[in-house]
Amino acid sequence: MGKIVVIASGNAHKVEEFNRLACAANLRDTSFVAAREMVAGGMPEVEENADSFVGNARLKAAALRKVAPREAWVLADDSGLCVDALGGAPGVKTARYAGENSTAAENRAKLLAALAGVPATKRGARFVCALFLISPDNNEQSFSATCEGEIADHESDAGFGFGYDPIFVPRGFSKTFAELPGEIKDALSHRGNAFAKLAKFLATTGN
Ligand code: IMP
Repeated sequence: MGKIVVIASGNAHKVEEFNRLACAANLRDTSFVAAREMVAGGMPEVEENADSFVGNARLKAAALRKVAPREAWVLADDSGLCVDALGGAPGVKTARYAGENSTAAENRAKLLAALAGVPATKRGARFVCALFLISPDNNEQSFSATCEGEIADHESDAGFGFGYDPIFVPRGFSKTFAELPGEIKDALSHRGNAFAKLAKFLATTGN
């Protein structure tokens, strides 16, 4: 029997990206399922109060490990945006940059306002993704990656993306992540690159 990997996220966009990445990686004996499909009540609430992406990913994975089926693997993602001109902020606070229950649109607006007047040459930023995997017998493993780029001076159309996609232009491109098809985003993105490391690990590890 293959591996079942339960994704520790209530974010439908992330689950969709994981499924796309899993298909592209051709991980034939591994299926990725959202927490809500495997656990009554879905992904448990977790206070993400660690000071690193890996630390927060671990908190989410550990919370799901407690309630997920024993034979399943669990996988958590913690990700965010680090902006050079802001000394690496919003970092681990990316999801709640404009306030505890802020929307993606409010977060983007706050970031564009914080960078008002900052010239194109100083708008460097990177997305960071930490994946944290816990096996059925509680072995822990993390996989991290970044994606370099810059913050645009205005929003593009929402297009394909989510979160900060409409204001993030990956290095070497002139369009934002929201304007680029998912397959291109996956080939460049922090989540895509971290997932490639995870896929390599899963492909060479038994159940
Ligand atoms: P998390 O869900 O706690 O990991 O928070 C991640 C934050 O970073 C959220 O605000 C997301 O919208 C944002 N984020 C992470 N990855 C991406 C991405 O690929 N595109 C756009 N925003 C992202």
